[in-house]
Amino acid sequence: MEFSYLDNNAGTGLADGVLDAMLPYLQQQQGNPSSSHRFGRFALTALDQARQQVAELVKVHPSQVIFTSGGTEANNQVLASVSQLYSGGDVIISPIEHPSILEPAARLTEYGFDVTHLAVDKSGRVNEDALSAVLTNKTRLVSVMWANNETGLIQDIKSLSRITRKKQIPFHCDAVQAAGKLEINFNAVGVQSMSLSAHKFGGPKGIGALIVSHDFDCPAFIVGGGQENGLRSGTENVPAIVGFGAAAQSAVQNLERYQRHCRRLRDLLEVRLQSLPEVTIFAKEANRLANTVFFSVQGFDAETLLMTLDRQGIAVSSGSACGTGQQTPSHVLTAMGIDDVTALGAIRVSVSQYNTLEQIEQLVVILTKEVDRFKHLMNR
Ligand code: PLP
Repeated sequence: MEFSYLDNNAGTGLADGVLDAMLPYLQQQQGNPSSSHRFGRFALTALDQARQQVAELVKVHPSQVIFTSGGTEANNQVLASVSQLYSGGDVIISPIEHPSILEPAARLTEYGFDVTHLAVDKSGRVNEDALSAVLTNKTRLVSVMWANNETGLIQDIKSLSRITRKKQIPFHCDAVQAAGKLEINFNAVGVQSMSLSAHKFGGPKGIGALIVSHDFDCPAFIVGGGQENGLRSGTENVPAIVGFGAAAQSAVQNLERYQRHCRRLRDLLEVRLQSLPEVTIFAKEANRLANTVFFSVQGFDAETLLMTLDRQGIAVSSGSACGTGQQTPSHVLTAMGIDDVTALGAIRVSVSQYNTLEQIEQLVVILTKEVDRFKHLMNR
């Protein structure tokens, strides 16, 4: 059986060259970057190089890169910093954030903070006036993601952060789904912190970064040996960080080609989907990631469809990976005003540079067969 992995927003394989870059640090180079001997110095040099590569991905100075265990930890660090710095106030987030923002924000309410969810339109976009309307002189943080993991919707972060900057309110941006897929210029976009994760664009799992502006006070979430300039303790995962750096470099070099390739696949899928009856493509008219299509076929249950596709070698998602298995509608679709029945049929296809047009055609053949079979059953 031919396998098609079409779930790249959940996690990608390693991009070309990444494993080769990592191997020496898994095999011969056992040094701890905090050690002063030659093995330690060698590991530290590798760390510095990877930091430079990740910095180039988002156009910052390497000193602004704090390596973490992934996007979840980076998001948690920023949200937790609010309760370390203040004894009360409010935090504003979008309702379509990843659980790694939603859950730590919910935890802040236990410490007496008010958490406001911004209104979004039917494509999930946060409106600038809606943001202006909820800011108060007690707003401690605003957090809005760059690109949504389910729909691929891209927010206008620059316009949103312009509003908070005028009031000197810190803006955090979860850019986990944007990094490596879109051009990112941290300083130009005007936020104070940003989360990245390597495994969304060809790096290994379990490594990410928090990018911070020099004027942003974000105390450590994990304390101990004082690594990462005191902002994230724990021995650095050198092989993973080296892989992160190599993936970042590859993403910078291949960005245009990646976008062009993914867009061809996405457009083909969307054209084909339109020939099926009663398909809804979510946020279709909005600015979206080139690699993501989130859609629902009327009458189908996403989990059943997902397992049918899985039996035929095709991997897709029924929403965010972390939500898989939960039979509750996607919170993203609910916030966009999509009814529960349509939302429970939602399937996400997310491609990478390694997918092919043939894999998309194969997916459509199976989907079409399933729809025909369903119609036949309904007409009996
Ligand atoms: N933020 C977004 C938008 C994501 O899609 C994910 C992962 O799916 C995360 C954060 C969490 O990143 P990590 O898997 O590195 O913890």
